[in-house]
Amino acid sequence: MTYPTLKLIKGREDAVIRRHPWIFSGAVAGGLKEIAVGSPVWVADNSGKVLATGLFEGGSIAVKLLAFEKLILDKAFFLSRFTQAWELRKLLGLTDNKDTNAFRLVHSEGDQLPGLIVDIYGQTAVMQCHSPGIYRMREMLADALVASSNGSVKAVYDKSRELLPLDYDHHDGYLIGSHEEQELFEQGLKFEVDWIEGQKTGFFLDQRDARFHLRAMSAGRMVLNTFSYTGGFSVSALAGGAAEVVSVDSSRKAIAGCEKNVLLNGFAYRHEAVCTDAKKYLEAMPSGRFDIIVLDPPAFAKHHSQRHKGLLGYKFINQAAIKKIASGGLLYTFSCSQAVDRQVFQSIVMAAAIEAGRPVSILHHFSQPADHPVSIYHPEGAYLKGLLVRVL
Ligand code: SAH
Repeated sequence: MTYPTLKLIKGREDAVIRRHPWIFSGAVAGGLKEIAVGSPVWVADNSGKVLATGLFEGGSIAVKLLAFEKLILDKAFFLSRFTQAWELRKLLGLTDNKDTNAFRLVHSEGDQLPGLIVDIYGQTAVMQCHSPGIYRMREMLADALVASSNGSVKAVYDKSRELLPLDYDHHDGYLIGSHEEQELFEQGLKFEVDWIEGQKTGFFLDQRDARFHLRAMSAGRMVLNTFSYTGGFSVSALAGGAAEVVSVDSSRKAIAGCEKNVLLNGFAYRHEAVCTDAKKYLEAMPSGRFDIIVLDPPAFAKHHSQRHKGLLGYKFINQAAIKKIASGGLLYTFSCSQAVDRQVFQSIVMAAAIEAGRPVSILHHFSQPADHPVSIYHPEGAYLKGLLVRVL
């Protein structure tokens, strides 16, 4: 078996040698038009020596690389990648864990599988293909996933529709098995996760560590959880003994899920759910009511083109929260925009603090947990950043 070979312009092989997983179209010497989007390709230096194997994306990112050698992307290849992914999660104590049975198994470039996300919810794996080439191989991937799981994965649900180009003929659905009712736990707390109707794969697993941190800080405190989704932070604060938690989200479905999860853990009497725009809520709420505020908005700047507007959005919500939080209050503030790096995010929170005119100190930095690894050659993968600040 052979794949088409794309030769790089002389000198442009450096990024491949440094293991950056993307090939930009401007680095390729030619032949892009002859290759169908989604096809496996080999990438060679200008002399024709193959350096890597990847999938043709067809855009300004022409190829995403899965291996820095010449090979065939068959079931054995994916089996070996998935086995490595399971080994890491085992090392992290996430497999066979009675308190936490939801975690990320495959984090794209961080697991040397660009274009693929796999989240594990008990016996079900939810797969999101960001790349047409990965999507084409989804049946084989699902087989390899189950085979690599030592019997723990019984069903694989493909949820790629929202991520692929709109003209792509696609339906979400089970590739293996079917729906299984199962209780899901994070740090001993129960959550109902709806991967079919919910956002992303159904739950924001990337905030596990921050939720645990909040839990330890919440005793006796009044907590506001904005952009609450299905209440991950709310349930954690309640479990930590919060006096009261208010959850705010603009999605009705998210608020309904949040109320369900609070109830499931027996905390409903200390909780209020509000379905509204978080910016409006922050603007209208009285000063001093909350001792702890969580700001975990969706990516305000999904692309560089939206960066300026996104930054203003972050500044607005942070300024409102810093202005109104009780004295001695704790603000957990996050950004999951890839286009906003850690330093820029901190500068925005500083600008918000200046506007609010109060003393603010940083207590802690958050990032994505270890089941969302970042390839050191692809620092762009470090998308989640957060700060815990204290406001006097
Ligand atoms: N903190 C959550 C995840 C947040 S995801 C967790 O731990 O699970 C971002 C959430 O923001 C989504 O639920 C989305 O519905 C909500 N959202 C988006 N725009 C909003 C707005 N303007 N006001 C309130 N909520 C909003």
